[in-house]
Amino acid sequence: MQRKRSEALYEEALQHIVGGVNSPSRSYKAVGGGAPVFMKRAEGAYFYDVDDNRYIDYLAAYGPIITGHAHPHITEAIVRAAQNGTLYGTPTELEIQMARMLKEAIPSLDKVRFVNSGTEAVMTTIRVARAFTKRNKIIKFAGCYHGHSDLVLVAAGSGPSTLGIPDSAGIPTSIAQEVITVPFNDLDALKEALERWGDDSAAVMVEPIVGNFGMVMPKPGFLEGVCKLTREAGALVIYDEVITAFRFHYGTTQTFNVFPDFKAIEPDLTALGKIIGGGLPIGAYGGRKEIMEQVAPLGPAYQAGTMAGNPASISAGIACLEVLQEAGVYDRMNDLATTLADGLRTSAAKHGVPLTINQIRGSFSTHFCDHPVTNYDEAQDTDGEMFGRFFKLMLEQGINLAPSKYEAWFLTIAHTKEDIAATLAAAEHAFSKL
Ligand code: PMP
Repeated sequence: MQRKRSEALYEEALQHIVGGVNSPSRSYKAVGGGAPVFMKRAEGAYFYDVDDNRYIDYLAAYGPIITGHAHPHITEAIVRAAQNGTLYGTPTELEIQMARMLKEAIPSLDKVRFVNSGTEAVMTTIRVARAFTKRNKIIKFAGCYHGHSDLVLVAAGSGPSTLGIPDSAGIPTSIAQEVITVPFNDLDALKEALERWGDDSAAVMVEPIVGNFGMVMPKPGFLEGVCKLTREAGALVIYDEVITAFRFHYGTTQTFNVFPDFKAIEPDLTALGKIIGGGLPIGAYGGRKEIMEQVAPLGPAYQAGTMAGNPASISAGIACLEVLQEAGVYDRMNDLATTLADGLRTSAAKHGVPLTINQIRGSFSTHFCDHPVTNYDEAQDTDGEMFGRFFKLMLEQGINLAPSKYEAWFLTIAHTKEDIAATLAAAEHAFSKL
């Protein structure tokens, strides 16, 4: 497969755009470098690059594209919105319709606010929690990604619970000191952190099912413990459902009763993004009425947005949710993901490649290791170099994965059995070369 035009465009992009990409995760730095593929068109489960190569896509734009690319119902909604004017700066009826749809699917939301990204949604839940509790500190879990705002770009230290060290330059230590990071799936560490800092903790922030160091389920009892300990300390529980909302079923983890071991629990605040925008920029946050009423113009916590709730994003979001309400869509994605994950396991074993797959309904993560992955340390302790070679071998055969060992494979409703068979054939070849 030749990609001369992608290579030339990358050279040019490097002259003008920092690192050649508008989000670092799009670079191939983590998979051994090289020019990222420049796509020019996407439809259904397929990408077409600038050199006219076709790829089966499992990136799904890091999650939002659950309907497949350019779904006609969503495209039509976007065209209609564009024809009616893309941005008003006034309230619209569409926003009410979308808020109602979210509230019906997510009963913990008394009130919602639309913003433009998952980052903004998370950032604001923290501000609102601090305003409501009049406390400062935030507790988060190592390896969970909550967007790029200052407070949540703080990594774990080496102890079981550590005051934060900034994960990025440009974050003052004074801000990092307001964040405590503990290992996921470790209630003792959370307990210890709350004993020490609970009096000044505004919230505990968690991805209830992790999507950012692979897909990782909470151990039985973990989320119950998180909610109980947090509330006993007088802090709020914030669920970051930017990846998980509408991913596994029509709703969030808060009503997810598919796995007997998983207890669906309502948090105090929820951050949303990705799927709810149908591929256009969006975020949203919401929760209990008295907490949400901290937000301006009702309360003292300020949050605003010129683009927030714009008719194009809201129309695309409504259309996407309508598609997801169709009977059977989630079961179909689950079935395809199961066939694919089982096939990958069998094929890897045949070629002696150590592979752990964490599958949750229509998405899964692949970890090149021979141990389970239940927390960030275990996810780090996997063969990134081997993943990089696997990624490139798959790309060469027209299979597009996320260029990072931590990212998930997302099935969409556009994938077919034939796509899965083609992917497994490519994987068989890739494993034989590893
Ligand atoms: N929270 C989670 C759980 C995410 O996965 C992401 C994005 N990967 C974000 C927040 C940030 O969302 P955005 O990129 O839309 O700002």
